[in-house]
Parts: sequence; structure tokens; C-alpha cells
Amino acid sequence: MELKAYKIHVKGLVQGVGFRPFVYRIAHQFGVKGTVENNNTGVYLCAEGESDQILNMVKALREKAPEAASITSVSMKEEPLRGFSDFEIVSSQSVSDEVTEISPDIAVCSACLEDMKRQKNRFNYPLINCTNCGPRFTIIRDLPYDRPQTTMASFTLCRECEAEYSQVQDRRFHAQPIACHHCGPHYTLHYDGLKVENIESVIHQTAALLDQNKIVAVKGMGGFHLACNAFSEDTVARLRRKKSREGKPFAVMFRNVEVTKKFMVLNEQEEAVLKSWRRPVVLLKSKKNLADSVSLGLDTVGVMLPYMPFHYLLFERLKTDCIVLTSGNIAEEPVLIDNEEALKKLAPVADAYVTYNRDIHNRADDSVCFVTNGAARLIRRSRSYAPSPVQIQYNTEGIFAAGAELVNCFAIGKGNQVLLSQHIGDLKNLETLEFYEESFERFQRLFRFKPKFIASDLHPDYLSTRFAEGLDIPLIRVQHHHAHIAACMAEHQLDERVIGISFDGTGLGTDGKIWGGEFLVADLNDFDRVVHFDYLPMPGGDLVTREPFRMAMALVHHYKGSDFLKDHRNSLFSDISQEKFDAVMMMLDRKINCPESDSAGRLFDAVAALTGVCRRSTFHAEAPMRLESVASMENEGDYNFDFDGVVLSFRPMTDALIQDVLNQVDPSVISAKFHRTILKIMLDVTKTISNQFAIKKVVLSGGSFQNRILLGLGEDRLRKAGFEVFSHESVPSNDGGIALGQMAVAAKRLSMNDKNK
Ligand code: ZN
Ligand code: FE
Repeated sequence: MELKAYKIHVKGLVQGVGFRPFVYRIAHQFGVKGTVENNNTGVYLCAEGESDQILNMVKALREKAPEAASITSVSMKEEPLRGFSDFEIVSSQSVSDEVTEISPDIAVCSACLEDMKRQKNRFNYPLINCTNCGPRFTIIRDLPYDRPQTTMASFTLCRECEAEYSQVQDRRFHAQPIACHHCGPHYTLHYDGLKVENIESVIHQTAALLDQNKIVAVKGMGGFHLACNAFSEDTVARLRRKKSREGKPFAVMFRNVEVTKKFMVLNEQEEAVLKSWRRPVVLLKSKKNLADSVSLGLDTVGVMLPYMPFHYLLFERLKTDCIVLTSGNIAEEPVLIDNEEALKKLAPVADAYVTYNRDIHNRADDSVCFVTNGAARLIRRSRSYAPSPVQIQYNTEGIFAAGAELVNCFAIGKGNQVLLSQHIGDLKNLETLEFYEESFERFQRLFRFKPKFIASDLHPDYLSTRFAEGLDIPLIRVQHHHAHIAACMAEHQLDERVIGISFDGTGLGTDGKIWGGEFLVADLNDFDRVVHFDYLPMPGGDLVTREPFRMAMALVHHYKGSDFLKDHRNSLFSDISQEKFDAVMMMLDRKINCPESDSAGRLFDAVAALTGVCRRSTFHAEAPMRLESVASMENEGDYNFDFDGVVLSFRPMTDALIQDVLNQVDPSVISAKFHRTILKIMLDVTKTISNQFAIKKVVLSGGSFQNRILLGLGEDRLRKAGFEVFSHESVPSNDGGIALGQMAVAAKRLSMNDKNK
């Protein structure tokens, strides 16, 4: 038999997911000799054996890889024989500037849950993990991924753990965060001035506290949570008050999927996402109520399943089947990660604290998604997703995409990859801005990244833009809605002219006005704004998002005039004080402090307020969410609109809608008619543009496509009409996806510059 030697290069998500030990095992299985090593560009194998053996091993490499690994490419190059006598794992080398992927955090695996009941040194050990599961991104300080580069560095392995760590056939072979009761970090319950460290007591007492309706701060994977019994209205309301969170729904954790089904409507895909190793929060329709204060009248609840060993241990003891598990922070600050800081800052909220002494290095909130038309759609991409890259078709090397402002997430470019940061948040908050700057520093170091170009929004006041400008390197400006459409195009590797429908909250347009109801004809490089919604005044500027009734007044004023609005104050706005009404009236009449916006979000605000569904908003996008929530789509009917080929006027709709409100038609019916109107506009305008420009591909992006009626039915109808429709799945359609779009546009423009040289 003839022996051959190959150098095999595996790229993708292959570090920190138990890949080298896996390779070792299959190499032995197929009798292949050689070495495997991690380096900054992926995993390298030197493989010697008969051709068949090697090819079979490569086949198994692709087919049997650990669940959390994902291989993007395997390349093979024949080499001279070196005569290996065995197959070995050789130590990591940092040799290149090109960096492979860092694994996101992985939910505890079923084998570890069994070990937790079987292994003596890990009986009920709440930080058990193996090469297939456990913390990764949140504990990594630097690459390559080896224990001394993680927050486990200070824990010295005991003899038993050491044996598993170095035994090839063991599931914990080279599991970097490996630990047990003897040598690893431990949990502590802080309650009533006492510290409890015995794990049985910690679990027992924490469960008891939760069942007694106490609020407990619990350290999670990427940050602290605040937990309480999800069935106790008093407790959930108290948590809401103390956390200064007026209306935003809380996420909950159910004991298991069976219990979830009793309370939530759950289809097959939703169940699969809920149980996936990433364990995101999945938005589900409720069928039976938890405490009212969990979601305050919205028809959906964000649900997750246990993903840390501690969660499982807790539910073994808990009587309640469901706990609120919301981010451990006050108001809009970043979620807390430091033990001391959490004890201090959460003191006004929490009755007790559960910590452990392994540090969280990289903060990561729970990720959030929903399922529509058979696909999971991320709306917050963070824990267990970050920092997995998105692959695009252009060279992104050296591009830093600064992102948007409100739901910020930035991105850096390496090769053809876009590394999106974890969810950062609203940069107007000082602590969040610091988190942004710190994370950018860390990404530069972790991924050996040097920014050479910046892609940023047109908006001069975005703090992300200002930060980017401060770096003093060439800046590429990308219009907000072009970035939205480009993000969705990048996700689907589109590089051609498309019809882009961007329905969104806010973004600066090229005419200096605020956009958000746009039909673009766009490619990655540039766009034409072909059709847009009618501009409405926003009396009070940004204030309208907190007081949607201002938009309702603006809508009536714009289409029905000042006198009509004044005459109908009692029938339409009786709950608004005369003083406030007059003040807004004055702004509208005199066009003072009334920036103009054509945003879909503002139109939803106006209709939500006019129908009385939401006059004042307590959290971002509450009015559109409530309007969607009340819509009963089984009702027929819609409203008319005017379209002159460029501008969509809502005059006829406003006439009829006001009549419906005055006739006391139920808001669920009005909302459904309004949604159908927008759906009709999507279809009609797309057809017109398609005929004009001969384009069949339609791309949907922008925050309004978190609305499941618009996204679900919009896609359906466009597809039925023969269009090829693309919408977001793995990147948010909200501003959390903007950085990807900025990156794609910048990369495209740079590639065109290169060609022109
Ligand atoms: Zn495991
Ligand atoms: Fe946006």
C-alpha cells in the first residue's frame, strides 16, 4: 500500500468546541498518523496514511463534528512523507494575523448533566462542562483559546481533572474550563448578611427564596440576571418598579419544554430553536397567563429553557415551573458582570444574590429571536451567537463598521468575514458608550485587528459616528436605510440590483430629513430612493417616540387641518390635557420644533395612539408592538392610499380611520385594516417598481420587520406574486444589523476602487 501525506486546513468555528480532541479520536479510528494543531487561522492537520484512510477521515471530519462546531472549508495539499509513528495533538501556535473563529458560549450538554449526578467530584457541581459545552467567548481574554488565556487561569487543576484533561479518549480532553468541586470555582449565596457556600444549601435556599416570592440576582453566563417567580403578580410588579422598567416585557425561563407547551403556543421550529445549544430567548404567543406584569398585555412572552447547570439544579428544587429571568441591570445600563458591582448596584432591587468566582470577561446578554414563515429571526444577537462571523463576498480586512446608535452592535472585518460584536445597547447611555469603547478595544486585540477604514452612519450626532471620526482614518458614510438593505443582502450573499423595502423607526436621509418608509432600488454600492411615505411633522422631535399621541395629532393635522383637529379634541384626544394639546397644536400650526419624517415606525405610532392602543410609550417601539398585538387579522378590509408614483399619501386612510375611531370600531379591527393597508402598499409599489426597473428580487429590512404580520404576510404575498423575497434570519432587521450593512457597502466600494486603480 502506498502511503500519502497531506496538509489539511480546516476553517470555520473549530476552536473551543472540542474540535482537536475530536480530530484525534477519528484519526485513531481510521489509522491515520500525524498531528493536529490550533493556530490563528483554524485547525491544521498533518495526515499520513493510505488515501482511503485519509479521505474517510476527512469525510468523518465533516459529518461527525461536535454540534457546536461549524466547518466553513476544508482544504488539502499533498506533502512529502515525514514518517509519523502516531497521531498527536501539538500545542497551539499564534503564527498569523489571520484569526479563526472564537466559539460562542454553549449550553450545558446532556452528557454533562448526567455526569453531574454520577461523578463524585462533580456531584451537583454547577460549573461542570466538557469539550462540547460550557462558557467560551464570555471567558476568553486572548487567543489562542487555552486555559491561561481565559478567566479560568487562576484555578489549578486537581489530579482527577488533570487526568481527564490529558486523556485523549475522555470527553474533557483539553476542555479548557474543566473544573470540579475540588479545584474549580464555586457558587455563593449572599442573603441576609450571610454567605452560603455549600452547593446543596445554595440551591436549596435559592429555590426556597424564589418560591417565597423573593427577588434574587443570579450570575449567568454573560451577565447577571434578576430572577423571581413568574406567577406572583406582586413580585413581578415589584421587580418592575425597582428596576425602573415601566413597560418592557420580561423574559422568563420555564422548567422544560413540556411545561412551556402548557402556557405557550409552540410549533416544531420554535421548539427546535428553544432547545438548540444556543438557547436564545424565543418570543412565543401565550395561551395561558403568567403574572400580568411579565408582559403587560402584549400577546407574546420571551421564553428560554435552562442552559447552565445551575439552572437545572435550581429547577430540581423549585416548586414554581417558571421564573422571570431578566437582565441584571438598572434601567438601560449594560447588564452587570462583576460580583462586587452587582452586590452594590442591585441592592435596591434584589433580596439575595447568587454569585460564582469565575469572572465574566466579555459581557453577553441573552439573544432574542422569533420564528416566522419557518425561519428563526434574530432580533438581538448576543450570547451564544457572538462572535460567530458572517461570511460575505468581499474583502473586509481592516474595516471597522461603527453601527447605529440605539440598538448598537459594531463589526470588524477580517478576510471575508464580518465579526459582529455582541449586543451593545443604547450609546446615549454613558455606561453603554464605555462598554462600546471597551469592546472595540477587546475585539482589536482578540482578533489582531487594525482599523484602516471606517464605515459609519450619515448622522453626525450618532455617538458611534463621533467615536469613529475620532479614530482619524478614512471614513465611508453609509445612509441608514441603505445599510439596512445591504445587511440583508450580505446575509443572503446578494450582489446585484434589488428592490429594497426599508420600513424602520428613524434614520437620517440624504435630504436631511428623517427617513424610515422607503422603497429603494439598491445594490451594495449605492441606491436610488424610488418611492417613500409622505412626510409627517414630528411635534417635539424625538419626544414623539415617548408620546405617540403627538404623532396622532400630527397625522390628523397634516391631512385634516388645524380646525378639524381643534374641533375633534374632545372626541379624539380627551385624555390629553388642554395645556399639552395646545402646546402640540401650536408647534404644528407654526411648524416649530417639527422635524419631518416619513418613517413607518412613526406612522405606526400615530395609528396606535389614534386608536387608543398606546397613547404614551414606556419603552422603545411599544406603540407599534401593541398595535400588532391587538390586530385580529381574521377580519377583512383595509384602507385606501394615494400614490403618485413617488410619494405614498395616507390621506384617504386617515379620513376613513378617523371615521372608524369616531364610530367606535374596535381597535383590533382598525389595526388589522391598517396592517392590510401597509401590506397592500408593499405589494402594489413593489409591482410598480419591478415593472419600471425589471427587478424581481425584493429585500426586506428595518426595525418594522420585527412586526410578524408585516414580515409573515408581506413575504407570503410578495412570493405569491412571483417575487423572490429575502428577509433577515441570522442578523437583526433592527439597528443591531446596521453594522453588517455598513461593512458590506464599504467593502463593495473599496473593491470597486481597487478595480479602478
Ligand atoms: Zn458537556
Ligand atoms: Fe434603523
